[in-house]
Amino acid sequence: MAITLQSVICPACAEELARDNRGCPHCGYQDHVAGRILSLQEMAQLPSYPAPNAASFDDVSPGFIAAVITAARVGHQAS
Ligand SMILES: [Zn+2]
Repeated sequence: MAITLQSVICPACAEELARDNRGCPHCGYQDHVAGRILSLQEMAQLPSYPAPNAASFDDVSPGFIAAVITAARVGHQAS
């Protein structure tokens, strides 16, 4: 299945996960704020610095960034 902005990709190990998840079963990464790892689109809509309650992600892998780029390309081709 193609990676899209609706895909859930673990920021730590870049494995594709189910939308309904309780963290990553591969590496144990969890999002303690949201309670589950969010889709790429949901992550992109979180408030960023300097907004109040800004989100940040530690230990984000290059594979995660690559997945976002792949999703953007897929979306561009589909439109
Ligand atoms: Zn993971």
